[in-house]
Amino acid sequence: MREDKKFGKKRKIVDILKGISASKKVPKGIYFLILFVYVLCIVYVNKSSRSEEIISVFGNPIPAYIFTGVYSSLSNICVIFLVVLFRRLGFFTSVFLLFAQFPMLFFSFFIRHSATVFPGLFTNVVSILGICIIFFNNRRILKYQEKIREVAVTDTLTGLPNRYACTELMNSLIKKKIKFALVSVNLNNFRSINDTLGHKAGDEMLIEIANRWRILADSGETGTYDFPARLGSDEYSFIIRAYENEEEILETIKKYEEELGRKILINNCDFFMTACFGIAEYPKDASDSGSLFSCADAALHEVKRNGDANNVLHFTPELSKTERYMAIERRIRAALDSDEIIAYLQPQYDMSHKLIGFEALARIKDENGNFISPMEFIPIAEKSGLIDRVDNVILRKAAKFIVDSNTDGKADISISSNISVLHLMKNDFIEEIKNLLDLSGADPKKIKIEITESIMIESDEKALKRIEELKELGMQVAIDDFGTGYSSLSYLHKFPASMLKIDKSFIDVMNNNESTKNYVALIISIGHILNLEVISEGVESDEQLDTLKTIGCDYIQGYVWGKPMPLDEALKLLKV
Ligand code: C2E
Ligand code: CA
Ligand code: CA
Repeated sequence: MREDKKFGKKRKIVDILKGISASKKVPKGIYFLILFVYVLCIVYVNKSSRSEEIISVFGNPIPAYIFTGVYSSLSNICVIFLVVLFRRLGFFTSVFLLFAQFPMLFFSFFIRHSATVFPGLFTNVVSILGICIIFFNNRRILKYQEKIREVAVTDTLTGLPNRYACTELMNSLIKKKIKFALVSVNLNNFRSINDTLGHKAGDEMLIEIANRWRILADSGETGTYDFPARLGSDEYSFIIRAYENEEEILETIKKYEEELGRKILINNCDFFMTACFGIAEYPKDASDSGSLFSCADAALHEVKRNGDANNVLHFTPELSKTERYMAIERRIRAALDSDEIIAYLQPQYDMSHKLIGFEALARIKDENGNFISPMEFIPIAEKSGLIDRVDNVILRKAAKFIVDSNTDGKADISISSNISVLHLMKNDFIEEIKNLLDLSGADPKKIKIEITESIMIESDEKALKRIEELKELGMQVAIDDFGTGYSSLSYLHKFPASMLKIDKSFIDVMNNNESTKNYVALIISIGHILNLEVISEGVESDEQLDTLKTIGCDYIQGYVWGKPMPLDEALKLLKV
């Protein structure tokens, strides 16, 4: 075990947690300053109470003894400060200071028969009572506060430190420039245990693993200073300090793996658990806690992706693609919080070039003001559970646009907005749309929800029901990216949509490939048989336009007649 001095005395988890959750201490200098002011006040109380001097304040003659009360009050305030700021030390100091004056006061009162000390005697008794009340009341409040802080840093299920504690420890190590490694840990196949044995057994497993790791970390047997934490479900992390080289980090991880690999008995079944580990080091790989988490997670994901071979991996810059993923996720969150998600509108026309509406498309800028492609950020928003919020912002802006365009009283247009399948399947989806319609005051008939064709393959009755509900609200539904997802015709027949949107990939090649052209023509015919309107997206050339006219497409959307544009430009287009 390396000496404590270099890494601080705290190595046990409880002690580190106490350090993290403890409230900030007031500097000792303040204690001595208050003490000094107190003694000064007492000296002046004594001096002024016996003084017969007359002093001039703003030209008025005032007897000096009048200030006795002022000094006495100041001394009481000092005593209160001592108790509040320095708790036990302050309380005992105050009691000592107040009691220490009694012999002098008694002497003056009983021996010198000086009646002037009577108020002082009374004040001291009242002060002692006062500080006792403050001290004991404060102690109760502080105990509650301590409890709250303790809860804030521990994971309720396992009692291990939580993500907040982990981040705080990293921040304090970074502040002191102490080298450490953050290891992201994920249990293998934990899900199947939860699914087969139930959540109670799953919880037991998580607690057992946490207990083993806590005991190992506190024992110091690994030779390094380790701080295990549980971040959520089957995700854990370790902060490892006091190592010389990467070998030692790997040795430490091996010890935790061995602990994990020992038989775990749950519901009379033997389990032998394994895990994957991703390592990131401060300051080598990143210099702030957020990026360190991202790097360690990137390494962990790579291990999981590669499967078998090795279950531990150190972060390398080649993995920074996943770092970009994290950066984009952070950017989406920030844009959502500061209302920086922008809606662009792309015009949609009938075949005679009459504007019939727009599709609202989400845009986000990076820190340098450059647009991040929706093809990149939409899948990330979906994976990180942010897509509902993105969809909602765009739909809200689309609804507002409809209201604004109506006030201008010009065109009779509709607006389409994309809704992710993940979002559509949320239990409160319809409630959310109802609220949005109520708040915006937009006419639901003029809003179309675009849902990708994949919904018809992946989902079942639930999806159908959702779309029925949208129709009941008076909205329209379009099936987006049609043709890419092998949907069965019988299902399309049941689908309560009003429009099919043929995917750009078919339009791209249709003029060079006869069979694709026939396929597009077929989709249009089937659409019409099923009473659906058909729009083609991604139309870029006049030749494509001509073909679509010939085969009977109803509407088009594409660069040939208009790119996505900001809202004010779209409004201008309405006035043309
Ligand atoms: P999408 O729904 O298929 O939208 C059409 C995409 O094709 C848009 O790309 C549009 O800018 C592009 N496009 C339209 N006409 C042309 C053309 O003539 N040539 C070319 N090269 N491209 C054309 P964008 O804006 O990059 O959006 C990509 C995808 O991101 C969308 O595909 C949609 O699936 C998704 N998305 C965008 N906004 C949202 C949103 O608010 N919510 C959800 N869930 N998804 C969104
Ligand atoms: Ca779309
Ligand atoms: Ca598409």
